[in-house]
Amino acid sequence: MTKAIRIHQAGGPEVLTWETVDIGDPGPGEARIRQTAVGLNYIDVYHRTGLYPIGDLPQAIGTEAAGVVEAIGDGVTEVAVGDRVAYAPVLGAYAEARLIPAAKLVKVPDTIDDQTAAAMMLKGMTTSYLIRKTYPVQPGDAVLMMAAAGGVGLILSQWAKHLGATVIGCVGSEEKADLARAHGCDHTILYNTEDVAARVKDITDGKGAAVSYDGVGQSTYTQSLDSLRPFGYMVSFGNASGPVPTVEVADLASRGCLFFTRPSLMPHTATRPQLEDLAGALMNVVGSGVVKIDVNQTYALSDTGRAHRDLEARKTTGSTVLLP
Ligand code: NDP
Repeated sequence: MTKAIRIHQAGGPEVLTWETVDIGDPGPGEARIRQTAVGLNYIDVYHRTGLYPIGDLPQAIGTEAAGVVEAIGDGVTEVAVGDRVAYAPVLGAYAEARLIPAAKLVKVPDTIDDQTAAAMMLKGMTTSYLIRKTYPVQPGDAVLMMAAAGGVGLILSQWAKHLGATVIGCVGSEEKADLARAHGCDHTILYNTEDVAARVKDITDGKGAAVSYDGVGQSTYTQSLDSLRPFGYMVSFGNASGPVPTVEVADLASRGCLFFTRPSLMPHTATRPQLEDLAGALMNVVGSGVVKIDVNQTYALSDTGRAHRDLEARKTTGSTVLLP
C-alpha cells in the first residue's frame, strides 16, 4: 500500500485527494520505485482540469519524479534494485511509490541530488528538444522566451545563453525580470504592460527574433508572431494563459514566411535512444554547472492542492518540488 494524490473527476485544486492505494509488485518490464521528490508541472494543471484528457478515473496525476528502485520485474535490464532514478513524462507521479515501465527510467548521477532531478526532468528534457531539435539555437540568434522566470523559462534561458544566443525574456513582474536576468536573459520585457514586438525590434536593430518559445499561449500568441524575423520560428509549446487561437496561415505569410510548430515531449521520448539523448544532454549541462536548476518552492505531496493554486496564480518561479 502507498499514498497518492488522485483525481476522481476533472476540476479545480479541490479534486486532488490524498488516498491510500494498492500498487502491488512489478510485472514484466516494470520497476517499483520509492519516490523521494516529485516535480510539479503546468501539464499537471491541464490533466487536473481536463484540458488534456487522461482516460479512466480515478487516476494519480503528475508526470515527473525521482527516487530509488526497490523491486524489478522479469526482463528488466535498464535499472537494478538500489539505483537512484528519475523520469518524465509518465502519468501517475503524485505518489510515495509507484510501478513504472523500466524503459522510462534514467539513472541519476551522484552529482545531481533527488530534488534537482525531480525538478529538471520534464522541464529540462523539454528544453533539450526545444533548443536542439525543434529550432536548433545558433550563436548570435535572438531568442524570445515567454514566461522566462518559470520552470522551463529559467532552464531554457540559461541553456540558450550558453549556446551563444541573445536571450530576451518576457515576464510578469519586475521581481521575475531580475530573476530572468540572473539566469541568462540579456534583456527582459514586462509583457503585460510593454509593447513586446516594438521592444524586440529595438533590441535586434529592427530584425526581429529568430524564434519565440511560447508556453504561455493565448495571451502571447500575437506578441510572438509580431516579434519574429522573416523565416522565424513560432514554437507554441504550451497554454498557461489558455489555448492558442486557431492559426491563420495567412498570418504566417504576411509576417515573412514564418514557421509554426506545436511540439510536445511525448513523441520526443517515445524510444529509449530518444530518451537517453534528451536526458544525457540535460545531465551534461546540469552536471557541468552550465544550467543551474532552481528549486524555488517545496510542498508536502499531501499538500499538492496548494502547490497547484500557487502555480496557477503565477506565484511560483523556477521549479517546484513535492515531497512525499
Ligand atoms: P511555469 O513555471 O512557466 O508557470 C507558468 C507561467 O506562465 C507563470 O509563472 C506565468 O509567468 C506565466 N503565465 C502567463 N499567463 C498566465 C496565466 N494566465 N496563468 C498562469 N500563468 C501564466 O510552468 P512550466 O515551466 O511548468 O511550463 C511552462 C509552459 O510550458 C506551460 O504552458 C507548460 O504546459 C508548457 N510545457 C510544454 C511542454 C511540451 O513538451 N510541449 C513540456 C513542459 C512544459 P509570469 O507571471 O511571468 O507571466
